[in-house]
Amino acid sequence: RRDQSWEMRVRAVGDGIRIVHLVDRTGSYATERIRVDFVANASHELRTPLASLLGFIETLGEEAGEDPETRARFLKVMFDEAVRMQRLVDDLMSLSRIEAEKYREPADSVDLGALAQEVCAELSASGDPRATDLSCAIDSGILVRGDRAQLSQLLHNIVGNAMKYGRAGTPVTIALHEADRAMAALSVSDEGEGIAPEHLPRLTERFYRVDPGRSRKIGGTGLGLAIVKHIVERHRGRLDISSVPGKGTTVRILLPQAPLSSTRNENATEAG
Ligand code: ADP
Repeated sequence: RRDQSWEMRVRAVGDGIRIVHLVDRTGSYATERIRVDFVANASHELRTPLASLLGFIETLGEEAGEDPETRARFLKVMFDEAVRMQRLVDDLMSLSRIEAEKYREPADSVDLGALAQEVCAELSASGDPRATDLSCAIDSGILVRGDRAQLSQLLHNIVGNAMKYGRAGTPVTIALHEADRAMAALSVSDEGEGIAPEHLPRLTERFYRVDPGRSRKIGGTGLGLAIVKHIVERHRGRLDISSVPGKGTTVRILLPQAPLSSTRNENATEAG
């Protein structure tokens, strides 16, 4: 309002978040976190496949649509664009669901070893051309406290990246063991082209990609690692991505073990 002197301070805190602080004469008035770039980026990402879909629908309605071969080709492109939009909407929903949830101490113990084996078996049988490159070194009896569906998504995202960005014919290794009594260590390594050091700190930002064209072409949404970061935080874990350009990348995640897994391992040691 004109009769009052407002001051608006905007502070960027990273990850596309701006803190907008409205201050009047009496001091602080209102503070709001807004995610400016995120909404713009998400809209842009959805608009591209949508524009392509509309274009093809329009052309199908014209003469081109009468030729069966052209029709089939267009339908295939439209299908791929729709899948791309679906993937993006699924990832956006996962992200907002994880963010919206209030943090509560996870009640369930999840057998992370069994889950990682399951993901390995599932991907090995998926028919993906890279499935034969998967190698799994997974210790059993490692339990973490957490959400099974989220941990499964975390595994799929990082193994999926290693398969997408690794070089065909080179191994993708999933390893799970105890880092110490408190933490379980999960790591996924590939022998792909790696990531230059200046990109590493930004990889978990929404829509940050080293090579946007390549990521889109291979079906990436640019949200996979942002989702992973949130899931790791929810589980009070730690995420570390290290990479040697030209050699490959390792994503390492430490997750607090559920008390039961230490007991199990103690028993195993005593028995053995
Ligand atoms: P995307 O859907 O694009 O894969 P992510 O959030 O999963 O999005 O990853 C962000 C970016 O990090 C990717 O676009 C890619 O440039 C880079 N990246 C992720 N994992 C790897 C990897 N294993 N090797 C090389 N680059 C990777």
